[in-house]
Amino acid sequence: MSLVVVGSVAFDAIETPFGKTDKIIGGAATYISLASSYFNNKVNLVAVVGGDFPKSDIKMLQGHGVNTAGLQIKENEKSFFWSGKYHNDMNSRDTLVTELNVLGTFDPIVPDEYQDCEYLMLGNLAPSVQSTVIKRLKKRPKLIVMDTMNFWMDVAMKDLEHTLSLVDVLSINDEEARQLSKEYSLVKAAKKIMAMGPKVLIIKKGEHGALLFNKDQVFFAPALPLEEVFDPTGAGDTFAGGFIGYLASTKDISFDNMKRGIIYGSAMASFCVEKFGVERIVDLSTAELESRVQQFVDLVQFEIRIG
Ligand code: AMP
Repeated sequence: MSLVVVGSVAFDAIETPFGKTDKIIGGAATYISLASSYFNNKVNLVAVVGGDFPKSDIKMLQGHGVNTAGLQIKENEKSFFWSGKYHNDMNSRDTLVTELNVLGTFDPIVPDEYQDCEYLMLGNLAPSVQSTVIKRLKKRPKLIVMDTMNFWMDVAMKDLEHTLSLVDVLSINDEEARQLSKEYSLVKAAKKIMAMGPKVLIIKKGEHGALLFNKDQVFFAPALPLEEVFDPTGAGDTFAGGFIGYLASTKDISFDNMKRGIIYGSAMASFCVEKFGVERIVDLSTAELESRVQQFVDLVQFEIRIG
């Protein structure tokens, strides 16, 4: 079993009603890699950073079993930078800055040692780069999961449609699902999006949980009701990392196992939002994770007798 994660590794500057950060380590692939590392000894990263990216953060990722053979370092260039500001409800945010920098010319390298990839996680990135990685794998992985965002719908819709036609599972939020399908009803949106390629669709609804669709079935996972959400940045990526990390570690891509996967993903995401950036997910214990998953089980378990 081998898991490959592609996506941005970045600097973020975040503002929430609780405070503001300077440039801190972020990026979709950072969150995904860290989250999936709790389920897999080795996570193979494909990404690019500039010479300004701290070596200590690369070491931190390696300490989590992240293989950085596919991480390019462009010494004379700057890392991707994103800045966002959350509204008071924490469910919506404005992107203040997106500086592509090294991502603007990213030509992903897939090292030979990644060629046994069975589980591929395409984190948020230009859809043309996501499809290039699929093309550069000699054998099609058993499962390809993709994440994307409204930014790419605005600037690269054609490329996005092509990449969508190549993947098995798409994970997006409700706003993005509506934009992509031009449908307000999420059930109608799911049908339209699955007709574009993915056989399975995950629609994340922030504090209202997540929906998992295939052609015939739908499953709902709640989000954990938390007293305080500190910073939602990366929650979607952390969710995706938990989801694919769990599937890769259990080697089971049935719909029933995907249900368990979204519970693990939701549990990982519930940690992520408790602190700024990756702070809360760099050092989780197995006991903490298990007890959080148990809280999800307790949250939705009830007995009912009909008739
Ligand atoms: P999320 O909160 O799950 O949507 O993910 C936030 C992360 O996505 C941040 O760490 C950003 O660095 C990263 N990000 C934001 N915009 C983009 C983009 N256009 N391409 C790739 N990564 C991005």
